[in-house]
Amino acid sequence: MTRQRALWAARPAFVDHDDRPPACASHDPEKWFPTREAGPTTREAIAICGTCPHERACRDWAYAQPISTLYGIWGGTTHADRKHDRKQ
Ligand code: SF4
Repeated sequence: MTRQRALWAARPAFVDHDDRPPACASHDPEKWFPTREAGPTTREAIAICGTCPHERACRDWAYAQPISTLYGIWGGTTHADRKHDRKQ
């Protein structure tokens, strides 16, 4: 398991303070780490994030991480989204 997937599996601190399960908990983690970000798997993962009670907290957490160290989809955003937004 890569560090990224281990982090994802551990659901960072934002989930620890809330009993509601993350929406991604009942899906294949690979959806959140697609080989191509611009594809149907990414859209599916983002749609699932949109139903998650932790989406905002997850996104805030992801944006607080160094862009070079956090890949995958977090809080409905891709790595490319976060990289783009950092440049704004
Ligand atoms: S926002 Fe997405 S990646 Fe974050 S915990 Fe929820 S479903 Fe998982």
